[in-house]
Order: sequence, then structure tokens, then C-alpha cells
Amino acid sequence: MKRLKDCDVINKDIMDLVIPDEKVALVQTNNPLEHALLVLVKSGYSAIPVLDTNNKLQGIVSKTMILNHIFGVERIEFEKLSEYKVKDVMKGDIPLVNPNDSFLTVMKLAINEPFLCVVDHEGYFKGILPRSALLKFLNHFLRDLSHDVLPAK
Ligand code: AMP
Repeated sequence: MKRLKDCDVINKDIMDLVIPDEKVALVQTNNPLEHALLVLVKSGYSAIPVLDTNNKLQGIVSKTMILNHIFGVERIEFEKLSEYKVKDVMKGDIPLVNPNDSFLTVMKLAINEPFLCVVDHEGYFKGILPRSALLKFLNHFLRDLSHDVLPAK
């Protein structure tokens, strides 16, 4: 059986699994909440990255963050959708991935996140790494490995 340290999975370039920035649905900090809600609903994603005007990552925004912000005590305050901006509700404290990070580093981070944001050393947004892409790769790897070590039926 191959030793894990020699296997492709340990040396996998995580950028092979990244959805590049130009294919990612995203919003900017200064966008009104109604625009962010539209992008979230139309894209079908529950959360998406937030950039500043220089394409630097600032955090993520989700449908839940927006809805929590507009729920009043007695009614849904729809007017807040145009009054407030993404920066008022977004979450800025998120784990960041660097293009040089190892597969094992990002696997650990992905335990608690459906997707990870990838930034370069200056904070410029490079894309996202969905947990599903990591699991898909691992699934292929483990299936290949099981063919190598288990007797054929
Ligand atoms: P998935 O594993 O493909 O369901 O993606 C998990 C999460 O990653 C989604 O719920 C979104 O929050 C985010 N995501 C995946 N693909 C994109 C994309 N192209 N643009 C923005 N967010 C995405």
C-alpha cells in the first residue's frame, strides 16, 4: 500500500480545485442589501464573497445575515433593503486560504465552512474553494486507493 506522504492527495495543488474569481457570484461592500439579496436568490447560493472596489476580499454575506437585519419586532422592514449596505451586515471574520496552502490545511478549514475564499498575499480575491470540490477529489482518491489494496471481487 502506498504511504500517504507519497500520495498525490498530500501534494495536490489546491488551485486545481478552485473556482476562479471570474466565475464566482459576488457583491461589493457598498452594494445595497437589495442587490445582494437579488444576487443570492438568483444564483441559488446561500452565501457569497464580498469584495471592496479594489477586488480585495472583505468577507461573506448570506441570505440569513440579510434577513436577520430586516426582521423587525412586528414586521419585515423591507425598506431597510435599500437603506443599508452589504458592509452593514456582512461577516468579515472568515478563514482565508492562500494559493500555496496545502491540501491538508484547507481540508481542516473546510470542516466548518461550505466554501473557503482564496486570496493572494496582498488580499486580492482569487476565487473560492467549495468543500464539495475537496470531497469530490478525496472520493476519487479513496476509490482508486481501495482498488489498489482490496482484492478484486
Ligand atoms: P457547492 O458545494 O457547489 O454547493 O457550493 C457550496 C457553497 O459555495 C455555495 O452554497 C455557495 O455559498 C458557494 N459557491 C459555490 N459556487 C459558487 C459560485 N460560483 N459563486 C459564488 N458562490 C459559490
